[in-house]
Amino acid sequence: MNNPVVLVVEDDTPVRNLIITTLKTHEYKYLSAKNGAEAVMMASSHNPDVVFLDLGLPDMNGIDVIRQIRSWSNMPIIVISARSDDADKIEALDAGADDYLTKPFSVEELLARLRVTLRRLALMNSTSADQSVYTNGKLSIDFSAGVTYLDGAELKLTSIEYKLLSLLARNTGKVLTHTYITQQIWGRTWENDVASLRVYMTTLRKKIESDPSSPKYIQTHIGIGYRMLKVD
Ligand code: CA
Repeated sequence: MNNPVVLVVEDDTPVRNLIITTLKTHEYKYLSAKNGAEAVMMASSHNPDVVFLDLGLPDMNGIDVIRQIRSWSNMPIIVISARSDDADKIEALDAGADDYLTKPFSVEELLARLRVTLRRLALMNSTSADQSVYTNGKLSIDFSAGVTYLDGAELKLTSIEYKLLSLLARNTGKVLTHTYITQQIWGRTWENDVASLRVYMTTLRKKIESDPSSPKYIQTHIGIGYRMLKVD
């Protein structure tokens, strides 16, 4: 993708300027908005490739900005949260955000999140909706046959492990919350489901990761959820 366009939504001028300067230095194109109404308008009129969205805006809640954009677009949204508390990030992810950054963040973190998101976008654009085989690094999933391979060898997965892996694979690059995952897998979220999820994740990682203690494919977001990364 040549010079992706990034929409920066942030009412705090020093933070907005820091993001814009970083984007300019790294040859990204940018647009900026200082409030939610401007953000929704710019998102619809300019159709940016990625949105950085501060959750604490003067005129409306960032979550409502996500809901409005999601009513007509899947453009990746990375939320910026001032609170160390995870509740607002979880709410933003469940409303359809792709990823999050917590203030204060470094320029390196900002660029890393942007790269992950752009890879997700490239993957989304190269994958047709009906594509039945997923490939990521040494991992491949034949969705129509319901079979998973690692380095060409068939993996023996339980049905829950397969559901979990498929769900993460279909959302590669996106952080999925515990609630979202458990609802997709079990159709509900009970207190114990998050603990069960952790157990299934451990057994799944033993099967797909060469070093389960430092996973390459599935990233843990403590207190929030998991994300499948695109692996070379
Ligand atoms: Ca703010």
